[in-house]
Amino acid sequence: MFKEDNLNNIGSSINKILYAGIDLGSTTAKIAIVDQNQNLVFSRYTRHNTRVKETVTELLNDAKKHFGDITVSLKITGSAGMGMSESTGIPFVQEVIASATVVSKKYPEVKTLIDIGGEDSKMIFFHENKTPDIRMNGSCAGGTGAFIDQMASLLNVSLEEFNELAGNYKRIHPVASRCGVFAKTDVQNLLSRKVSREDIAASVFHAVAIQTINTLARGYDIKHKIIFAGGPFTFLSELLKTFIKDLKLSNENVQIAENPALLPSIGAAISQKDGLNEQFSKLINRIKNPINKIVAKNRLDPLFKDEQDLAEWNKKRISFKVPRIKIDEMSSNKCYLGIDSDSTTTKICAIDENKKLIFSYYANTKGNPIESAKKGLNELRLKLEHEKQQLEIVQTAVVGYGEDLIKSALNLDYGIVETIAHFNAAKYFDEKVSFVLDIGGQDMKAIFVENGLINRIELNESCSAGCGSFIETFGNSLGYTVQDFAKIACNASAPADLGTRCTVFMNSKVKQSLRENATTDDIAAGLSISVIKNALFKVLKLKNISETGDHIVVQGGAFRNPAIHRALEQMTDKKVICSDIPEQMGAYGAAIFALEKSLIENKQTLFKGLDKLESLTEYTTKEIQCKGCENYCNISKFTFSNKNKFFSGNKCEKYFFNKGNSVTKGENLFDFKYKLLFEREFSLKTEDRRPKTEVSQLPIIGIPRVLNIYENYPFWHTLFSSCGIKLELSDPSTVALYEKGLGSVMSDSICFPAKNVHGHINNLIEKKIDRIFFPM
Ligand code: SF4
Repeated sequence: MFKEDNLNNIGSSINKILYAGIDLGSTTAKIAIVDQNQNLVFSRYTRHNTRVKETVTELLNDAKKHFGDITVSLKITGSAGMGMSESTGIPFVQEVIASATVVSKKYPEVKTLIDIGGEDSKMIFFHENKTPDIRMNGSCAGGTGAFIDQMASLLNVSLEEFNELAGNYKRIHPVASRCGVFAKTDVQNLLSRKVSREDIAASVFHAVAIQTINTLARGYDIKHKIIFAGGPFTFLSELLKTFIKDLKLSNENVQIAENPALLPSIGAAISQKDGLNEQFSKLINRIKNPINKIVAKNRLDPLFKDEQDLAEWNKKRISFKVPRIKIDEMSSNKCYLGIDSDSTTTKICAIDENKKLIFSYYANTKGNPIESAKKGLNELRLKLEHEKQQLEIVQTAVVGYGEDLIKSALNLDYGIVETIAHFNAAKYFDEKVSFVLDIGGQDMKAIFVENGLINRIELNESCSAGCGSFIETFGNSLGYTVQDFAKIACNASAPADLGTRCTVFMNSKVKQSLRENATTDDIAAGLSISVIKNALFKVLKLKNISETGDHIVVQGGAFRNPAIHRALEQMTDKKVICSDIPEQMGAYGAAIFALEKSLIENKQTLFKGLDKLESLTEYTTKEIQCKGCENYCNISKFTFSNKNKFFSGNKCEKYFFNKGNSVTKGENLFDFKYKLLFEREFSLKTEDRRPKTEVSQLPIIGIPRVLNIYENYPFWHTLFSSCGIKLELSDPSTVALYEKGLGSVMSDSICFPAKNVHGHINNLIEKKIDRIFFPM
């Protein structure tokens, strides 16, 4: 593979032995063995599923079977390799250095390496006679292999099938790649709009490419040739094609690596100046019996002192039991219906005139809010049939993500804002409520109350790390149900301090803690504490815990988990009020709203009744494209049998309303202002006074159509055209124009309009204007 004269560092004493490199990534383990001419003579690639020690032993045993018990010179690399190196005394080489070594030696023409791993991604820029410039992903693992894994499991397909689907796409749709949990919502939304799985898979790959280019290049020119490395590029051909397409690369700009998934392990094998020379059997023994025991670090106080403490707390935990009533015990048959249709679950509550619960329903939405709501209401119908009872549904209300859709489909009376529903329910439990924390599967809201009125509302926007699915995903990945995971968390003696971080990154921290001898109980408790820390300090960004006041009410499915409930009490040092149906609070609050409205307005309900569900929820869908602006949104139009219409996929309400049509057509002031600002003729006043030849030699000045130019363009236009200088504006913003400039964005944390500037400057360069004028 490599010429012998490249092996400057290898002494004659080890000339006969083989050189091995083990790369322990966050999800996979690789071994590469090269001979003295740096030819690859043995390799293996496997997932370790957190069984790091066992997997490395298996890899070395495989090599031993292949070569016999010979002496090799070994080095370890990879994000999970440092701990093993410390415990076994096998030398470590940083994986970026290892990859860079291979590229410098084997592919000298390469200027950029793009490497995507299980939970990390990196770009290395190579310069002649200079140390390579290295960029790695920071606080978000959005565009990595684990992210793609999550998206494939959402479509219920293997990675191979996901890759195949992406190869047959027709259209790319926007998918958030900054956060795995948000991307989940985008994908679920696309699924419910019946967007093809082919389009979804390709859109996920496009999102990964844009995220990687955007966050890692940070202003650097991605120079050619480019080499792609890491498992996802090796096994997902369509991902590689997407990068090649998005970076507009031709074949000669791409260097195909012989073993892209093995680059760091080969790098560790060939950088063997100070590798450990030992027989395979001795190396295996080292792995099995580490010389340095890793001591437990970063531990927190337990959630409960002992079993008795837990038992006593459990007795008082549910501070409010929602009153229930049997249908045959009701004084009248009047009933009020509340539906909460959120991104992942559907909840329904039916209450009587005294707010007593008659019926409740909770189920996964499975990407189809209408079907899910229908199923829940059908359960109520069957219950009535079974009990030979009848109810008069007086008023109905719906909250949540699917509010407009469900309201149109079922002809409900009110669609209300979630916070109002949650506040209604919280007030019912504690009149003096000062803080409501609602943690659902993927969203979270905090309501700050002062003197009985909502003072401030905070929602999670760009991160879902403190939400319920965060802990569910981890519990499941460690082989526990949510309930069992909660149970073991309460028994933990020394919860691991996992800090506050992105869902995908938390994986690495969990693995590190497991290597540091934390038990699964400690991990479960540590994760529960992290959910609360993430919620309060990372997502809601509380500066001071006293902002919550003394009357805290919690809601949302996450608080079914006693460990999360207890963690909030410990952190705030306050009694936290939780009902016995925390996940139903949105639906219960909506039912209370319907009841209160009926008392005030006494209107006839629009709801046609439980026996009309089948015909009510029949609908047809049509895909249309809005040409209202350069976003060209793909719209799904739902037409229901009740003649109601619902639009989804529109980024604005310019043409598509779900809240009823306005009677009088208004003026589009945005359009009016836009034309007033930019539709300007070049003034010839000054040009008239000068010789034609002089004017034609003046440079054309380009101005990007961004930021303060939306205010000041008339001034600059007047100034330049009065001087006889022609101006050229960049084209109006489009997604394609924005994405073209992403490679030169210096930091991912700058705002969208600032990132957009890069696309506009790029556009002016393409227009070949003489100068760019961009007053800041
Ligand atoms: S829905 Fe709004 S944002 Fe989307 S294309 Fe139409 S006008 Fe533009």
